[in-house]
Amino acid sequence: MARPIVPVPDPVSQPFWDACNEGKLIVQYCTMCDRRQFPPEPACRDCGFNFHLTWQETSGRGAIVGYSITYDSRLVQWHPKQPFLNVIVALEEDPVINFHSNMEEDFGSNLADEPDIPVGATCEVIFVEAAPGRMIPEWKIAT
Ligand SMILES: [Zn+2]
Repeated sequence: MARPIVPVPDPVSQPFWDACNEGKLIVQYCTMCDRRQFPPEPACRDCGFNFHLTWQETSGRGAIVGYSITYDSRLVQWHPKQPFLNVIVALEEDPVINFHSNMEEDFGSNLADEPDIPVGATCEVIFVEAAPGRMIPEWKIAT
């Protein structure tokens, strides 16, 4: 299903989006600091260098650590989908790394009421086509 807004890769984030198109969730990894970071940045947030930055594939698993419900997005392209759920997923192997994502599950609730979002539930990444040939990561409850 096409998404109302499609991310535009830049030179720093292009490897991330290329990996998404291959069904892989990768994050930057600084070999000097032994540290992952996401979203992609031009340099390591700890040491400030860029020549130690590589990319590392993740497990693609995480846990819901929070959520919000958008009723009145600033982006008019999202208005037809309101209200919609935004989850925050902490990466399983490095919970400091969070992904913000839509989630297809409705958890049996109407979001306009009091939804029962399973905070703490294990999730796994899925890749959805935001536009022809442009995959983006989203999350679903792990099976
Ligand atoms: Zn570093």
